[in-house]
Amino acid sequence: MLVTIAILNLSTVLSVPSLCRKNIFKCKKDVFLCFFGTFGGFLVKRGERHKDREKIKKYVVHLGSQDPRDDNKVICYKVEQEFGVSISDTTVRRYCIEAGVPTSSRKSYEKKDKIEICKASPEHLDTLMLTKWGVPDEVAPDILGDWRKHHERGEHEICNVYGKLRRNLVDREIPYEKAEALLKYEKRILEFDDTEARTNIEIMEAMRPWDGNTNEKLYWEEIRRRNKSTWEDMENSYECGFCEKRYSPMEGDSSQGIEPNTPFEDLPDSWACPACSRGKEQFKRMGE
Ligand SMILES: [Zn+2]
Ligand SMILES: [Zn+2]
Repeated sequence: MLVTIAILNLSTVLSVPSLCRKNIFKCKKDVFLCFFGTFGGFLVKRGERHKDREKIKKYVVHLGSQDPRDDNKVICYKVEQEFGVSISDTTVRRYCIEAGVPTSSRKSYEKKDKIEICKASPEHLDTLMLTKWGVPDEVAPDILGDWRKHHERGEHEICNVYGKLRRNLVDREIPYEKAEALLKYEKRILEFDDTEARTNIEIMEAMRPWDGNTNEKLYWEEIRRRNKSTWEDMENSYECGFCEKRYSPMEGDSSQGIEPNTPFEDLPDSWACPACSRGKEQFKRMGE
């Protein structure tokens, strides 16, 4: 039985790269592998449920509440070492959401903001209030709905972003169109750790297109210019094959004394993944 599960689970692993390339169901083989992969995963999950589920859950929540917190992939690895059971990072995320601890390594540092954020909790808001802030009538219900949804799920980082929207509209008197752009970039940073969105916010805050003293054309040119180097950096980035941590040559790695603008090829052999400590050889060029 164990051998069967191992084989089936291997097929899950085999079907993952094809999923990543978004050509799932392109050929029958993929469908076949995917079907058995899912089935294998299901069996493993069943085994896990009966065996040590509560213990694993407790262990995951314990690891998830550390500060700094391990990456979800690293937590999966530790669970496997400890219990001999493989769980997915989606499961880790789910356990963390249920227990109200940070759901990713990135979010562990934002934990402290939580208490303050929810002072402006969306329960006390209505669409009329939002339109008073400067949100157009037609989008106010969507904004409020989205805010409440995330708040109820305990995703208060999003509440923080909406809090910023309020400050931008009311305190800084930024027109909605620009405040909305900032809001979208902030949400993208939370969701995807998006470098490009971060750059765009930096440019907007520096050029302040809402003050009316910045030529719109100059502003968009700057966005294009800055993102060009971001895109080039992405192309020259390498990614850890184990935990997906990205090495950006533009940023370098200050934690190991690597200066900005150091190409991956020039890293010393002693350099290791800053997230999971695996060696240089684990890294693959982005998009390859
Ligand atoms: Zn909240
Ligand atoms: Zn790594």
